[in-house]
Amino acid sequence: MFKATPIAEANAQGKITRQAQVVWGSRIVTVGGDAPVRIQSMTNTDTVDVIGTAIQVKELALAGSEMVRLTVNTPEAAQAVPHIREQLDRMGIDVPLIGDFHYNGHRLLTEYPECAQTLSKYRINPGNVGKGDKRDKQFAQMIEAAVRWDKAIRIGVNWGSLDQALLADLMDQNSRRETPWGAKPVMYEALITSALDSAQQAVELGLNPNQIILSCKVSGVQDLISVYRELSKRCDYALHLGLTEAGMGTKGVVGSAAALSVLLQEGIGNTIRVSLTPQPGESRTQEVVIAAEILQALELRSFVPSVTACPGCGRTTSTTFQELTQRIEEFLRAQMPHWRSKYPGVEKMKVAVMGCIVNGPGESKHADIGISLPGTGEAPAAPVFIDGEKRMTLRGEGIAEEFQVIVEDYVEKRFGMQAAVKA
Ligand code: SF4
Repeated sequence: MFKATPIAEANAQGKITRQAQVVWGSRIVTVGGDAPVRIQSMTNTDTVDVIGTAIQVKELALAGSEMVRLTVNTPEAAQAVPHIREQLDRMGIDVPLIGDFHYNGHRLLTEYPECAQTLSKYRINPGNVGKGDKRDKQFAQMIEAAVRWDKAIRIGVNWGSLDQALLADLMDQNSRRETPWGAKPVMYEALITSALDSAQQAVELGLNPNQIILSCKVSGVQDLISVYRELSKRCDYALHLGLTEAGMGTKGVVGSAAALSVLLQEGIGNTIRVSLTPQPGESRTQEVVIAAEILQALELRSFVPSVTACPGCGRTTSTTFQELTQRIEEFLRAQMPHWRSKYPGVEKMKVAVMGCIVNGPGESKHADIGISLPGTGEAPAAPVFIDGEKRMTLRGEGIAEEFQVIVEDYVEKRFGMQAAVKA
């Protein structure tokens, strides 16, 4: 006979890895070890445009990006990096900058020492370091710069630029197997081997293994899960996680959330980037917002109070409930830069905005503060629940404004009190 036992609560299981330090001045962003999963992003401005790039880095940092990567592809871009840093320092933005290098990174990091010194981390793509005899020498030059300036690196393998010599070698080996593997497992093996062999080389060249972060990015959700599960088994380096070329709009958001959630739930991934293609006119900061939402949904980190809202149905024939949900979400997000330091813990607050009496009161009671709006045909009254108790009922035209004031008041009383007790 079935015997009921307590159902275990699901939660993300952290896997302990090495810990890298990505540093600018007194700002130290730890990645891996016991650090929270970090959010990072990348600019899409021309790095030579110092002001435009500094402004975008600032926007990304204010949106919550804890490290920001820039393309460093030409001597002019390398020369611009220290000036971008200067602008940011002047604006009080201490977010560490990461240089993204392909093909000529060995030259840029050697010939522009100010750039090498200003960047807090270098991204090295082992598939784009150089061909044949030059490969090892050029890779070594980049590692020498990291050792000299005491920088973290990411060995960032990407299946779109996989080391072709290595892939050909693994395919050769595969053809000699009694039962050859399929094409995908060989490709997975090539991605992981490229990352691990390059990391080993970097260690042999004198780089502290704690300062190495690895990534093996692919654009398929199941491929990413397969590769990272194996990569995580085979090493204890901190891992940068992201679905490459995730795409635009809903597809990019859903693909990234699907892939990252599975892995993060298994404790795989120490820093994430959501590689969204912005829709025309859309802010670059959207990728940071999505990354934060993924971490918050998995209860790995909290950034803004969460709003629980029902989808609405035939019982909500007016737009009042949608408008109130949107208004409260925007209000909470807009308050956070100011609330974060004033009201510690407010980012964990749960607000419910519900459309009718069916689930409205129940869901509102589960939240810290909730409102259940009247559905079609219900009495025009909106009960408000605070800490699980019905405290008041709002009526009339000004429900949205009144509810916003009630939320503000709740935050001040509850989280302002906590701040005072701590002080
Ligand atoms: S709470 Fe009410 S309005 Fe919202 S989805 Fe459920 S039944 Fe529909």
